[in-house]
Amino acid sequence: MEIIVTESAYRDVLAQAKKDAPLESCGYLMGPDKNTVTVNYPMKNVDESAEHFSFDPKEQFAAVKYARQNGLTIVGNWHSHPATPSRPSAEDIRLALDSNILYFILSLAEQTPVFNAFVISNGEVREKINIR
Ligand SMILES: [Zn+2]
Repeated sequence: MEIIVTESAYRDVLAQAKKDAPLESCGYLMGPDKNTVTVNYPMKNVDESAEHFSFDPKEQFAAVKYARQNGLTIVGNWHSHPATPSRPSAEDIRLALDSNILYFILSLAEQTPVFNAFVISNGEVREKINIR
């Protein structure tokens, strides 16, 4: 399985994550189908933490509504790891309750940012998805 993330969507994610660092940043990724991300929908990290994130339920509702109104599919959500690698933490895995979406993690730990997507279900990482 492979996911396409458009250059502009990726640039958006990167800019937001850099702006929010050293706190974790987060958002939804949407597109015309399950395999294509064209839109970053920025979300507020209500935890305001460098180590974890939570969505605001009201913003989540607004994001779902935005997707529906614009004919977009929610491909997944993303969050940043300002100082750790691009792989799910134990807490990320525990909190990943929806096996129908992808979990994207952008790491800013190295000089070159690393962006990966994961399928997580029942407390396990099932698959790492290639992004292009
Ligand atoms: Zn994380």
